[in-house]
Amino acid sequence: MEVSKHIDVLIVGAGISGIDAAYRLQERSPGKSWLILEARDRIGGTWDLFRYPGVRSDSDIFTLGFPFRPWRTDQAIVEGPAIRQYVEDTAREFGIFERIRFSEGVLRASWSSSDARWTVESAKGRYTCSFLWLASGYYDYAQGYRPQWPGESEFAGRIVHPQFWPKDLELAGKRVAVIGSGATAVTMIPAIAERAAHVTMVQRTPSYIVARPGRDRAAGWLQRRLPPALAASLIRWKNLLLTIYFYDRARKRPADVSRRIREEVAKALPPGYPVERDFSPPYKPWDQRLCLIPDGDLFAAMRSRKASVATGAIERFTPAGLKLASGEEIAADVVVTATGLNMRLAGGIDLAIDGKPVRLSEHFIYKGMMLSGVPNLFLSFGYANASWTLRSDLTARAICRLLNRMAKRGLGTCTPAVPSDLARQPILGLNSGYVKRAEALLPSQGDRQPWTVPQHYIRDLLAMSFRRIDETLEFVSKA
Ligand SMILES: Cc1cc2nc3c(=O)[nH]c(=O)nc-3n(C[C@H](O)[C@H](O)[C@H](O)COP(=O)(O)OP(=O)(O)OC[C@H]3O[C@@H](n4cnc5c(N)ncnc54)[C@H](O)[C@@H]3O)c2cc1C
Repeated sequence: MEVSKHIDVLIVGAGISGIDAAYRLQERSPGKSWLILEARDRIGGTWDLFRYPGVRSDSDIFTLGFPFRPWRTDQAIVEGPAIRQYVEDTAREFGIFERIRFSEGVLRASWSSSDARWTVESAKGRYTCSFLWLASGYYDYAQGYRPQWPGESEFAGRIVHPQFWPKDLELAGKRVAVIGSGATAVTMIPAIAERAAHVTMVQRTPSYIVARPGRDRAAGWLQRRLPPALAASLIRWKNLLLTIYFYDRARKRPADVSRRIREEVAKALPPGYPVERDFSPPYKPWDQRLCLIPDGDLFAAMRSRKASVATGAIERFTPAGLKLASGEEIAADVVVTATGLNMRLAGGIDLAIDGKPVRLSEHFIYKGMMLSGVPNLFLSFGYANASWTLRSDLTARAICRLLNRMAKRGLGTCTPAVPSDLARQPILGLNSGYVKRAEALLPSQGDRQPWTVPQHYIRDLLAMSFRRIDETLEFVSKA
């Protein structure tokens, strides 16, 4: 197996976080050599994988986009292929694209304390690096979450999962049932409704669904009047502050916010619509992610009678569609199982330190970017309650700060040392199915800084910019 030249920083993943990591390394730690290994044959991660009808962002692109290459139109909610293209264009513009090795899934990475380096094995080769930076996302690319129901084999139509949308699937004139009520289901239903004879959202439990304008008029106004960099910065701050405000309000006054959301839904649907049955979740807003829909497109599809909602547990598939426990039958030619993701951190890579396997669930997360007891390993994550990139970019900047500090002091190895009295807490404050299913496999956060993951941009900005970057890190000098 070919062994490549030693690299300072090896980045895994060419999605938004991997490109952001590479840009920040070039900008802030220019002396470091780096390379990206990407399992897929295209750039973009999430925005390349998901190809179902209507796939788009559900947070605004001004905060989802890269701060160093701002989005320049007033379109706030953007379709998946356009986001993928934007990631590619950014990588090309900054000379990152040429340094991505595609179709190189990383399988194993082992740290040797005596050599102070990682040895990383991909399907094609072997690399050594001083620092390993995992920008590999948060879910399993190989498999989505797919419960099974009785009677599936009797169903005469086709069953598809959004993570693997078949190229040849023709929906014109078909009756479609979408199982699920999360972001994926509410995104695809209006797009499917444009082509299909009818589409039914079949949900066991309703979600909070909030309509927002697809275009940001204030952004357009600022873009037309101000220099581009100033406009971009103001739009970004406006949107991130609004996101924080709405999130905080939902957490502090859940009953008010829940009632307001249901009132808005009632206004968007025909008089007498049973909003309590179909749009009234049994949990508080932001216990699970809120679903944002641009310009109320789901409600428009329902008003036009091209889409409808059926609430209740599925008892079984029948040859003609689905049967609910209530006895209701939903006729379908195609069933889409929008049942979610399987969370998977660290890109499914087998990590080991001096031959001992690393089990993520035994570790704490340090400043949201490293694992306790694991040397020279960085992780890029985003927010669950705001745009991902807000946090992954903060992380990238903090990592560069740490690398520069280590270089200045002649240090080769850094390892977060966990205090013995740190209390274990779940890493994400959501009780969504995909989080609950993965809880036992995830690292924990602690009960105090620098071991907490507050899911709050301003707190993180202050902590990542002004607190010492090396608190509770143990260092070893370069040999
Ligand atoms: C349908 C959908 C819609 C979303 N909408 C939004 C939204 O509107 N706003 C928002 O903020 N977030 C959204 N998210 C979250 C989204 O994943 C992030 O916005 C962001 O794209 C994550 O970027 P990433 O680069 O960290 O991870 P990913 O996009 O997941 O990219 C990870 C990359 O790492 C590669 N990789 C993984 N393991 C390995 C390995 N072992 N070896 C080599 N390469 C590997 C993958 O192939 C992939 O290219 C959405 C997610 C989904 C699934």
